[in-house]
Amino acid sequence: MIKFLDIQKINLQHQDETEKRILEVFRSGWYLLGEQVQNFEKNLAKYTGARHAIGVANGLDALRLILKAYIELGVMKEGDEILVPANTYIASVLAITDNRLVPVFVEPDLLTFNISTHEIEKHITSRTKGIMTVHLYGRVSFSEELKVILKKHGLKLIEDNAQAIGASFRGIKTGNLGDASGFSFYPGKNLGALGDAGAVTTNDDELAACIRAIANYGSSKKYVNTYKGLNSRLDEIQAAVLDIKLKYIDQENQKRRDIAEKYCSDLSNPLLTLPEIPVNAEEHVWHLFVVRTGDRERFQNYLTENGIQTLIHYPIPPHHQECYPEYSGLSLPVTEKIHREVLSLPISPVLDMADVEHIIKIVNNFR
Ligand SMILES: *Cc1c(COP(=O)(O)O)cnc(C)c1O
Repeated sequence: MIKFLDIQKINLQHQDETEKRILEVFRSGWYLLGEQVQNFEKNLAKYTGARHAIGVANGLDALRLILKAYIELGVMKEGDEILVPANTYIASVLAITDNRLVPVFVEPDLLTFNISTHEIEKHITSRTKGIMTVHLYGRVSFSEELKVILKKHGLKLIEDNAQAIGASFRGIKTGNLGDASGFSFYPGKNLGALGDAGAVTTNDDELAACIRAIANYGSSKKYVNTYKGLNSRLDEIQAAVLDIKLKYIDQENQKRRDIAEKYCSDLSNPLLTLPEIPVNAEEHVWHLFVVRTGDRERFQNYLTENGIQTLIHYPIPPHHQECYPEYSGLSLPVTEKIHREVLSLPISPVLDMADVEHIIKIVNNFR
């Protein structure tokens, strides 16, 4: 059986180094707001090119905190609208509604799976305050046209960078393309912790200070509470592990790219639509390799019978989730088509090329 993603194998690549650092933290007696987090924040900021990186508890919190800070700073207020791609993972939308902001669903582009830039302007109203762009599946969702729209309407750009650490647009890394960016280090992400973890990056000093305070009970000075905050901190053990794995992220993303290129050149089944490799000086990090087919259930069963594990990202779009009855009447045909047709094939830095070749053979024999 070829696993969809072998997280154990990924983490065991650096077993000695990781066990040593974990033991150091264990023995130090210092588990929160310490030097491991400071160190990782410094290295993450340097990696992305952004001035600030703030470790937080998870990716959803990273996005929630950005919007909460904008509300605290008076940049946004309850009822303001945030544009978001309709086919994103639910967390992007939850971060918006949790802050009593209004998500405005924009159809994606069927070829890139990312927000369709030419669909954006018709959704902009006097209440629109920002766009949450999602680098879905590891592909950059940013363009010169988007920059023009942001400037013209005075909008904030929030990056949901949960799936795309290491990706770049004309040499600028995701996490440094917009006004603020949320990262997830959920174990299955390209940079995965040993549990929940996340971060925010930004070049905005005021926003960074506000987020840092809100994530720590609204306090920048012990027992002095400036904001009605939360407790959303990255812990020392996770930071230590992430700091090690960050050193290898480019090399791991390169392995993902090699696999994606092999799939794109050798998969030839006419029943499938393959994802495209971006041209415009964009570096894709292939968090997922997502194909489309009108016969998904049969295709997935066929792969399972042939020992290939696959997943669906995602089976139900946010506007059709039970938690959002207020959006159930929306008609979003491109999004709905994507959710009916997508299937994710195995891809990871530890997937052997021999397994990739086997998958290609099996997939090409599907009739
Ligand atoms: C994983 C993910 C999140 C949420 O991250 P968590 O760390 O699981 O909270 C947000 N947005 C997208 C697109 C994701 O894939």
